[in-house]
Amino acid sequence: MNLTFNNRVAFVSGAGRGIGRAIALQLAQAGCKVVCASKNIESCGKVADEISSMGLQAEALALDVSKSEEVKAAAEKVVDKYGQLDILVNNAGITRDNLMLRMSEEEWDAVISTNLSSAFYTVKYFARTMMGGRWGRIINISSISGVMGNAGQANYSAAKAGLIGYTKTLARELASRNITANAIAPGFIETDMTSALPRAIVEKAREVIPLKRFGKPEDIAGICTYLCSEEGGYITGQVISVNGGMGM
Ligand code: NAP
Repeated sequence: MNLTFNNRVAFVSGAGRGIGRAIALQLAQAGCKVVCASKNIESCGKVADEISSMGLQAEALALDVSKSEEVKAAAEKVVDKYGQLDILVNNAGITRDNLMLRMSEEEWDAVISTNLSSAFYTVKYFARTMMGGRWGRIINISSISGVMGNAGQANYSAAKAGLIGYTKTLARELASRNITANAIAPGFIETDMTSALPRAIVEKAREVIPLKRFGKPEDIAGICTYLCSEEGGYITGQVISVNGGMGM
């Protein structure tokens, strides 16, 4: 199936590695101009170069999505350059795992601001342009931890569950402007984030995944690209789980 994209401009946060890189690549391959945003210019720059070297359109933008003033400046820059923003993928995320009683306030705040407040800032500063265009797609990358909870991830699961409620509210508030908002809840995906997990946890996780393997970043990018296309335009307010059947 060939998906339809009519000259769309996309902003993908956390596009320097893993899932965000795969999403940026697929959106560019589908014909979008992609702003690859991440914290370090080295990583988003490499991905933007990789996309450009394929003859596709991308640029890199380094910012800290947990800082509202940096998101505001980035949004102004993108809108000044392209005059539009059609697709917003809130994918940047971090973990700072610890058992609840040992978790520091810094660990809590870092995860909430990077994984949840960031999505408030991006929509706040991009939505007006999207609304003006009477067309938009917002994708928030949540997690199975936000759906089921996960011991050791009070901060992360709270942020990811928060994204789900936030997505549903955005879907209701923005539907009249032809803007959809959906969340994707990945299970275990092979990226730098999961390569840091202890071997015992990885083995235990594999046991409880019915498909008995971790997913690939492309598994998330595929559904994300569909949701962003014209064809995905009647889906809004949903949480799409991509997890190998875990926690059915
Ligand atoms: P990853 O490989 O660790 O990459 C994270 C990306 O986020 C990097 O590009 C990083 O930028 C960027 N980032 C982190 N903090 C940032 C900040 N403050 N400002 C701007 N960019 C920032 O992660 P991943 O595994 O691809 O995960 C992507 C998303 O999927 C995250 O939201 C994660 O929570 C979610 N998720 C992942 C899994 C999994 O199994 N991997 C499962 C469920 C949900 P730099 O490259 O510049 O450092």
